[in-house]
Amino acid sequence: VASIPARLREPRPSVSFEFFPPKDDAAEAALWDAVRRLERVRPAFVSVTYGAGGTSQDRTVRVTARIADETSLTPLAHLTCVGQSVADLRRVVGNYAASGVRNVLALRGDPPGDVRGAWTPHPDGLEHAEDLVRLVRGLGDFTLGVAAFPDVHPDSPGLEHDVDVLVRKADAGAEFAITQMVFDAESYLRLRDRVAARRDLPVTPGLMPVTSYRQTQRMSELMGTPLPPQVVERLEAVKDDPAAVRAVGVAIAVELGQRMLAEGAPGLHFITMNRSTATLEVHDALGLEP
Ligand code: FAD
Repeated sequence: VASIPARLREPRPSVSFEFFPPKDDAAEAALWDAVRRLERVRPAFVSVTYGAGGTSQDRTVRVTARIADETSLTPLAHLTCVGQSVADLRRVVGNYAASGVRNVLALRGDPPGDVRGAWTPHPDGLEHAEDLVRLVRGLGDFTLGVAAFPDVHPDSPGLEHDVDVLVRKADAGAEFAITQMVFDAESYLRLRDRVAARRDLPVTPGLMPVTSYRQTQRMSELMGTPLPPQVVERLEAVKDDPAAVRAVGVAIAVELGQRMLAEGAPGLHFITMNRSTATLEVHDALGLEP
């Protein structure tokens, strides 16, 4: 099996899927159902997000380990610095390694809560994602990915600074980047080109097929990813009709995916919300072959 960075350099676009750790048994069953359906299109990798609380972190480790153990999929484990000392982080990385997980998406994370608060590192922890890249690198044979922000990270002074940060992450040992969900292909292409001028770091766009307008608005606020006026207009026009929202959401994702792949994006990283139907519709409409 090709490593994630090697796969992202192949001419054939790579598809990957993002999940979050389920909160209860019913949610866990829904997740595995989605994993099994999506496994059929042979993604390059699947990733599992990492929350702020201890129990949700344990679930991430468990789900990622189970993917490594019971499926044909290559797992990518997210890891953040939130509320964890360096010793804690070393332990989590040790657990990943022990369960055969060798790909880590190294993130800073955000302070827990529904409103964006100021970042304060753990007193014995790490300040920036690049520090986590360096830490994990030093702990063994891991392949590291990092986050990128086409619409500029909410705490960043601007695009140039974001590009500098990505260069620092690459120099610390990151071998690929995945972006925050994209709703404006031009922002993605601008960031991708600026990074490409300085480092050989594949940057894969995040794509979320909209299935609920309210949920998308909430995520857009929380993540600092603005919804472009054309996207808002198309969703507003159908907002009281859930089936129509879904259809428009899938159409928007297909258009974005088409444009970014035509411009040479290495692949598409689908934010699945632990569901498979909308993602598979976009995948099939794009004519992506397993
Ligand atoms: P950093 O790279 O540390 O950047 C954070 C801020 O600090 C930025 O403004 C940056 O410009 C600035 N900065 C970085 N380095 C320096 C430096 N050396 N000097 C000065 N300023 C600097 N969050 C979760 O909690 N769990 C997840 O599983 C998760 N998965 C994600 C997956 C993807 C693909 C993406 C795009 C984001 C994800 N996030 C997740 C959210 C992420 O943790 C937040 O967006 C966080 O605010 C930034 O993380 P980062 O890794 O980019 O941090």
